[in-house]
Amino acid sequence: MFYTSTRDKSIKVTSSQAISHGISAEGGLFVPEEIPHITMDDIVRLADCDYIERAKEILSLYLTDFTAEEIDSCVKGAYGEGKFSSDKIAPLHTLTKGVEILELWKGPTCAFKDMALQLLPHLLTVASAKSEPGKQIVILVATSGDTGKAALEGFKDVNNTKILVFYPNDGVSPMQKLQMTTQEGSNVGVCAIEGNFDDAQTGVKKIFTDKAVAAKLAEQGMMFSSANSINWGRLVPQIVYYVSAYCEMLNKGEIKPGDEINVVVPTGNFGNILAAYYAKEMGVPIKKLVCASNANNVLTDFLKTGTYNRIRDFYTTVSPSMDILISSNLERLLFLLSGMDDAVVREWMGELSANGSYKVSDDVFAKLTELFDAGSCDDNGTKACIAKEFKEHKYLCDTHTAVAVSVYEDYAERTGDETPTVIASTANPFKFSKAVLDAVHPGMTENLDEFEMVHALHDETGEVCPPQLANLKGKTPRFTGCCKKEDMEQVVFDLLK
Ligand SMILES: *Cc1c(COP(=O)(O)O)cnc(C)c1O
Repeated sequence: MFYTSTRDKSIKVTSSQAISHGISAEGGLFVPEEIPHITMDDIVRLADCDYIERAKEILSLYLTDFTAEEIDSCVKGAYGEGKFSSDKIAPLHTLTKGVEILELWKGPTCAFKDMALQLLPHLLTVASAKSEPGKQIVILVATSGDTGKAALEGFKDVNNTKILVFYPNDGVSPMQKLQMTTQEGSNVGVCAIEGNFDDAQTGVKKIFTDKAVAAKLAEQGMMFSSANSINWGRLVPQIVYYVSAYCEMLNKGEIKPGDEINVVVPTGNFGNILAAYYAKEMGVPIKKLVCASNANNVLTDFLKTGTYNRIRDFYTTVSPSMDILISSNLERLLFLLSGMDDAVVREWMGELSANGSYKVSDDVFAKLTELFDAGSCDDNGTKACIAKEFKEHKYLCDTHTAVAVSVYEDYAERTGDETPTVIASTANPFKFSKAVLDAVHPGMTENLDEFEMVHALHDETGEVCPPQLANLKGKTPRFTGCCKKEDMEQVVFDLLK
């Protein structure tokens, strides 16, 4: 199987090349030229396998230039013994009859980013040895919190890689900051920047595309790559858990082979829900993909009108990993739905960067409407949902998951659709203790520090904070640096010395 670019269909690369480069040179995203198919018999057979076997089978359909041994070692390195706190890796939790929560946060950093970022370093190491032999890979990350920590944890002490994470000094939660500044590993660096997430992102992009920097790196036998979800190596691991969720629904007796399910995803950069779309196209019987947004509801409006318009107010919400107005992975979906029309994708993406908006064709809009439903939920709705689910079903959601649950409940009521449903749950509630505690016991957060809130949340709910978060209490940060955005390049070269 070969990969092409959403902005230039004449490009043809292997999966190794797609993963080691991260993004195509003309700015497009790599996508497989065709989507492999699995049958219901395959799915029924996979239902008898563990997560590792399921992952090996799905990945081998996409990464056709990897050997079976390579895939085996990558998958075991990511999801093997002791890496995740659930031996199912991505377990289902029954919320109510026919509504299952897919818990994607059992990994080392307690957010769903681990599902992909535990595997990506292994894929990248194999891929670059094939397509860029001898080169050392330098991963630069700009993060608003979850991606940075998950990437650090995934890449720490991985041979032939270095990773440097920039985060906005005042833009991450206290828990997220501690997670990053106490990171262990001999090949890692973390630096705060004076500015917001966009400043960090812009700075990283500038370094990435600077020819002089690339030349300096090449002299030292190094090259940059990306750990963001524009990298196909981050998307492909996410397809696996949708296949796996269907298997688990079968095993629980919630559905029979061939029955349809709905999938609801709390969405930011559109990576997670795009993986669900790939699973559907592969043959998993998914009826509707429900896209859930917070107050930054650019995707809800897009899926309802066919016009994408990022010219709007930006809100800082209690679900910060979804505070995003440009959802990069949507480009991949538009490419697929337009029949791989690279010219029209170039046109729309050009309009987005020039004017901040574009309108898709009637044909693409009709397909979007058929495949997707969408809804949004603001902070009050999010907290109300956390309180309600805890009270009624004794289930404690994090803020991102609550957005999805709330949007699903609206959807079910509006449509009367009773199809069994999987709701993606993307973070452990203790990562966002303040908002979650405030939801279950309004007013209680006052005058409490982060770990007092963790404690209070435990007392209020009986839920246990995962040790990797609880143990951060009192830990001395290792990375205390904070740089001006103009100095980011210097910080990169200092790390590489
Ligand atoms: C990254 C993230 C999301 C958004 O996922 P996308 O793939 O960017 O749509 C949702 N919830 C949490 C907790 C996240 O970390």
